[in-house]
Order: sequence, then C-alpha cells, then structure tokens
Amino acid sequence: MAEPKAEPFPAEGLPLQEARARVLAALRPHPPIETLPLAACLGRVVAQSVLASEAVPGFRAAILDGYAVADAMPPKPGRRWRVVGHCAAGTPYPQLMGEGEAVRILTGAPLPEGAARVLAQEQVEVQGASLLLAEAVGPEPWIRAADEEAAPGQVLVEAGQRLGPADLGRLAGCGVAMLPVAARPRIGLLITGDELVSAGADRGPGEIWESNGTLLEALFARLGYPLAQRLQVADQPERLAAAFDQLAAGCDLVVSTGGVSAGDSDWIRPLLAERGTVAFWKLFLRPGRPFAFGSLAGLPFFGLPGNPVAAAITALQLVLPALQALEGGDAVGLRRLRVRLAAPLRRRPGRPELARARLAFADDGLPLALLEGSQASSRIGSLQGAELLLELPAEAATLEAGTELWAQLLLLPLF
Ligand code: AMP
Ligand code: MG
Repeated sequence: MAEPKAEPFPAEGLPLQEARARVLAALRPHPPIETLPLAACLGRVVAQSVLASEAVPGFRAAILDGYAVADAMPPKPGRRWRVVGHCAAGTPYPQLMGEGEAVRILTGAPLPEGAARVLAQEQVEVQGASLLLAEAVGPEPWIRAADEEAAPGQVLVEAGQRLGPADLGRLAGCGVAMLPVAARPRIGLLITGDELVSAGADRGPGEIWESNGTLLEALFARLGYPLAQRLQVADQPERLAAAFDQLAAGCDLVVSTGGVSAGDSDWIRPLLAERGTVAFWKLFLRPGRPFAFGSLAGLPFFGLPGNPVAAAITALQLVLPALQALEGGDAVGLRRLRVRLAAPLRRRPGRPELARARLAFADDGLPLALLEGSQASSRIGSLQGAELLLELPAEAATLEAGTELWAQLLLLPLF
C-alpha cells in the first residue's frame, strides 16, 4: 500500500465517509491471480473480462413441446400438415423441412432447417400421419434465438466483477470451465485484552469470555473472507509487537480488536506508530469511536475497537470495502435504502450513530426500521437478527415515528 497520509483530523474523530475515502486511497491493490474451476470461483473477483467464444445456444431451439412447421405466418384453424419426422433435445432432424410438412419437436430441440414456428401440442390433433390445427394460434413462434444467451464475442463477465451463482451458471452455459480470479486477501486477526478468557474456560474475577474473535471470524467468513490467522495476546507491548510481526509476515492486512483507546493498557496505536504509521485515529461515530488505521510493514492495519458491536460495525464500514478493493473489485460496501422509524426514538445527541434495527413493512408495503433493546456497543444481542444499520444524524435527540432516514441493508446480494 501507499504510505497513508497522516493528515490532521478533527479531535472528535474522523467522519466515516472521510475515513473510508482515506482507507481506500491508501490501498494499492495488486492481488495475485489464480486460475480456478468455476465451482471454486463463487464470490471471487474475476481478473479479466471473459467473452463468449461462440453463440449460445448456437442453434434455434424449441421453447415448448409440439410440432415444427414451415409456415411463415400464423396458420389458421383447420390447416393440415404431414408429420415427416421427429426431433428432441440433442437429436436434430437431419433434413430440410418443406411447406406442408410437420416435425414432432420437444423442448430444447434444435429447430429443423426450414422451420418457422412451433405449434404447441395442446393446439393440434394428430390423426395418423396427419396433423390438424384445432384452434387459433397467436403470432409467437416459440423459438429461442441462436444467440439468446450470448452472441460470439459478447462480454459474459467484466474484469473486476464479483462472481455470483448467475455469473457462474452463465459461464458454464457458455462452455467456460476455468477462470482467472483474484486471490482472497489474507486477513490476520489480533485479539487483545488482559481480561479475556476463551469460551468454555473457567473465568476469574473481572474476566470476560472473549467474543470478538468468534464474531469477526464468522462475519468475515460470511462476507467470503476466511481468516488466514488469528492470535490472542494480553495487553503487553512486547507480546503485541511480536504478534504484529507474525501477522504482517503471513497476511495481506492486519485487523486488531481492543486496546485502541487512550487507556494505560491500550498499546495498539503507540505500537503502530512505532513500527509503522498511524494515518488516523478515532472515528466520529457511535459505536466505533476508538479506531486506528495505518500501515504496518507496508500492509493496511485496522485497529478496531474492543467492544464487540463497535468492532463488527467498523469491520463492515471500513474493512469490508478495503477487502473488496484489495481484490481489484468495486468497494461497494453495504447498499442503502430509505426507511421510516416504526416508533419514536430518543437518543443522546453528539455523534452520528449506526443503530441496529430489523426491517419491517408498513401496511402500505413501505419499509420500516424496528429498534429493540439497548444500543450499547457492548451488547452483541443488538446485532442478533439485525437487518439494517440505521444512520442517525449526530444532532438528532428525539425522532418521531415515521421519520425517514437512510439505512444500510445488512443483506448480501444473491445472484
Ligand atoms: P478496550 O478497547 O480494549 O478498552 O475494550 C473495550 C471493551 O470491550 C472492554 O469492556 C473490553 O473488555 C471489551 N472487549 C475487548 N476485547 C474484547 C473481546 N475480544 N471480546 C469481548 N469483549 C472485548
Ligand atoms: Mg482492552
């Protein structure tokens, strides 16, 4: 990455938009490219545009089961044809069809040469070798064009595009088996805190069960980024420095949680300043005020807060777009929509807030945000089932029911 500029920033913290812009500006994506079979490419960013080598399906095909005929215009009821043959998917009719002839055809079969339309089998009567049109037919010829899916040279996926099931399906359907994709950035996660014990272990007075490791590992996995390494270290500068080095040696970015405020056991920022660069510290955000971004051994370093909700939210706001950019894809982050508050809201003004909410729908079908329980940054329960991050303006103290606000959608694209 480029050495991030340590520009001055407001004492109350950097607004999120600006923080995101600074993070992205500091990145220099040059991901290694690997060529993988389609099945391994789900969620990956394709490194080069892929073009169709030939037309797909490549032949005119029947859209329904029935009879192919050569009539250029829709035939009238009472018209008769002589049934001369049969074709099915994978088994073409080998001859040229003539006027007055009909060929039995099944869905997906190539249209015989000379055929102009397919008559649905429900609309005709078979009388021995003769076919009779029993009812009026519309103008639709029920033929799939030879280049319906792709014309030769058509772009199937563009360089930088993230591949979903539909992209992979279309590529398979166009005969593409292998793809050049960007390697996933390797995330090194560092958990710090003297008070932390692992779930399942007994805890002493004042100790808490560690949750950020599990929460973030699962969140990154959900986003398509399995962790490369995870370390847990007490608030001791020598141990933390060794962990910094270990993660920087084997990863493409380092993410820490905890120890990034200004307390006596908060070593992340001073250590980052000593061993790398701090580009900015503190966000103008709730939750997520203690946050450091900088570079460590030329790699992006994200010092996330210790409170679990703040760690998860800042990971989504700042680490996710960075991961996307490091793969050479668009840093799209989360999509936003306008929603209305389902109930009035009172809050402590002063900082912009990302409140966890559920998505509901009013009687008229318009989206509503439903907030339940405490929004404390330590309460992971506020993330359970959350579908929206509601963007509350810094100065708002009371918000009426029905107030329209922006919300980030906590749902991933499917296709
Ligand atoms: P810190 O920023 O280190 O002062 O942490 C802020 C709060 O988050 C403290 O209450 C910590 O106990 C808590 N915390 C820090 N790290 C973790 C973690 N890995 N799991 C759960 N809670 C944590
Ligand atoms: Mg701590």
